[in-house]
Amino acid sequence: MNTSSPGPARTNRKAPRCERHDAFLHPEEQAELAARFPAGHQAQMAFLLAAYTRNASVVAALLGTRARTVRCHCRGWSLPPGPRLRRALRRRVLDLVCPRCLSDRAVEEARQAKRDARRAARRIPREQDRPHR
Ligand SMILES: [Zn+2]
Repeated sequence: MNTSSPGPARTNRKAPRCERHDAFLHPEEQAELAARFPAGHQAQMAFLLAAYTRNASVVAALLGTRARTVRCHCRGWSLPPGPRLRRALRRRVLDLVCPRCLSDRAVEEARQAKRDARRAARRIPREQDRPHR
């Protein structure tokens, strides 16, 4: 049985790059990204699904496709994804493996939490303004 890959190993050439942060990433961050980035669309789809608590509908919405498509790709039943889905998949995986994307997201989530807290705090005095009795 011939199990050799069709070409020479070219792990470096295909190393994923985050277009938002590529210029800012330190070599060790770039290595971390490359090490965490799953190889192949099936592995990437499975990675996303696991990251979103195995909720295929959420993953499908993120990728602009259908939950059924997500499940088929995870099981390797589907043909390779088209360029649009492949790009979306790559981008969503990068969001979860690029160290800078992850920290950006943590900052944004903290900001959102603060906004929510402020909004909730504003709502309370208004209710207390109402005359009692
Ligand atoms: Zn990034």
